[in-house]
Amino acid sequence: NELATMMDVTVTEIIATCMSLGLFVSINQRLDAETLTIVADEFGYEIQFVGAEDEEVNLEEEDAEEDLLPRSPIVTVMGHVDHGKTSLLDFIRKANVISGEAGGITQHIGAYEVKLDEEKSITFLDTPGHEAFTAMRARGAKVTDVAIIVIAADDTVMPQTTEAINHALAANLPMVFAFNKMDKPGANPDKIREQLSAMNILVEEWGGKYQTQEISAKSGMNIDKLLEKVSLEAELLELKANPNKRAVGTVIEAQLDKGRGYVATVLVEAGTLKVGDPILAGSYSGRVKALYNERGSRVEKAGPAAPVQVLGFQGAPQAGDRFNGVESEPEAREIANKRLQLQREQGLRTQKHITLDEIGRRLAIGNFKELNIIIKGDVDGSVEALSDSLQKLSTEQIQVKIVHKAVGPISESDVLLATASDAIIIGFQVRPSAGARKLAEAEEIDVRLYSIIYKAIDEIKAAMEGMLAPEF
Ligand code: GDP
Repeated sequence: NELATMMDVTVTEIIATCMSLGLFVSINQRLDAETLTIVADEFGYEIQFVGAEDEEVNLEEEDAEEDLLPRSPIVTVMGHVDHGKTSLLDFIRKANVISGEAGGITQHIGAYEVKLDEEKSITFLDTPGHEAFTAMRARGAKVTDVAIIVIAADDTVMPQTTEAINHALAANLPMVFAFNKMDKPGANPDKIREQLSAMNILVEEWGGKYQTQEISAKSGMNIDKLLEKVSLEAELLELKANPNKRAVGTVIEAQLDKGRGYVATVLVEAGTLKVGDPILAGSYSGRVKALYNERGSRVEKAGPAAPVQVLGFQGAPQAGDRFNGVESEPEAREIANKRLQLQREQGLRTQKHITLDEIGRRLAIGNFKELNIIIKGDVDGSVEALSDSLQKLSTEQIQVKIVHKAVGPISESDVLLATASDAIIIGFQVRPSAGARKLAEAEEIDVRLYSIIYKAIDEIKAAMEGMLAPEF
C-alpha cells in the first residue's frame, strides 16, 4: 500500500507484479529490500534506502591497503564431548603463564590471548564447541579464523566430530586436527586418519591438506607443536587489519555484574578501542569507562584480535552483536534508539531464510545459485541415498549442496547450522526435537519431513524448477 502510494500506482498493480515474481502478498505486507527494488524497477523507479540501515554503513571506515597490518588469528576448539576440548583450552591458558607473562589467566571472559613468541600470538575463544560457533555465525558474526578439531585417539570419529567438521566446512574455516589422549594405552591415531579419509578429509601425512598433531591435553605433550601448526595455518590466510581507526568487532558475551554494572567481552576485529570511546553494540550505547584483559588487569586500549572486557554499556548486548566505536555518545545513543525502534516495528523479526516455496521467486529475481540442504535420517542407507539423489538434481542454474548429513533426529544444532548457512532441513523418517522445532519456527527455517524418498526428491526437484505451488 505504502509503495503504491509512493509510486502513484494502484495496489492491485503492485500485487500483480509481486505475483508475477511468484510472491503472494497482502496489502499491508512489508516487502524485503530485494523485492522492493525489483518491483519498483518494474514501474521505472529506483529505490534508495534511507534510515537506520543507512547509518550502519557509515559506521565502518574503509581501509587503504597501506593501513592494513598483520593481526593474530582467532581460534575455536571443536569436537565431540569428552574428547578433551576444555582440557586443551585449560592447558593452553595455564601454559601462557609459563611463557613469562605476569599473572595467570584467572578469569573466564570468553576469550584469551596467548603469546607464542615476541611477534606471534593466538586468540582463543574460550567457549568450546561448534554450537557456540554456529550460533554466533547465525547472528551474522564471523569471529573465527581457524578451527582446532579435537578427536580422542583412543575413541573414534563420533557424531559430534562429524558435526563439528561440517559446521567448520560450511563456514569455509581452515581446520587443524588434534589427536588427543595420546598418553592413553589404547590411542590409535592412524585409525582416526583412516576414518577421516573415509569422509574425504585427507590429512597431510596421507597426501592431503589438513595438518594434524598428536597431543595429550592432560600432560601437555606436543601442545606447543599444535599451536605452531595453527599459527602456520593462519599465516596462509595473511590476516590483516587497520589498527588506526575507530574500533569494530563482535560481542562475545555480556552480563550485569553486581558491583560493576554491565560488562561485555568484545573481540576487536579492526581499529583500536580506548578508554573514553563512545561505543555501540546492538541496541545499546555507552562510553568505555574501563577496559580489562583476561588477567583482570586494567588496560588503556585494545587493538585487532584482542579480547577485552568493556565497562560502560548502558545494557547487555547479545553474543554475536557487532560492536562499533562511534564519533560521539549522542550519535551512539541515536543509532541505538533507532535500532530499538526498528526492532519493535518489525516485531523482532529474524532474517528470512530460504524455503522451498521461495526458490521460484528467487529464481525469477535471478540471484539464486546454490541450494543448501541438511539431511537427517533414521538409518545411514537412506541418508546416503537421499544425499546422492539430491546432489544429482544440480543443474547449471542451481547447485545442490549437502551442508551436513547424519543419522538422528533434527537437533537445535542442525537448525543453527541452517540459519548460518541459509539451508533447508530434510528429515527422513525422523522428527525435530521440541527445542529444534521452536528454534526453527523462530528462525523461519524450512524443515521438511518425509517418509518416502522419491517424494522428497520430487518435491525438491519441483521447487528447483520453480514449480512448487506456494502453501497458504
Ligand atoms: P570436552 O567435553 O571435550 O571439553 O572434554 P574434557 O576436556 O572435559 O575432557 C573429558 C575427560 O577426558 C576429562 O576427564 C579429562 O580429564 C580427560 N582428558 C582430556 N584430555 C586428556 C588426555 O590427553 N589424556 C587423558 N588421559 N585424559 C584426558
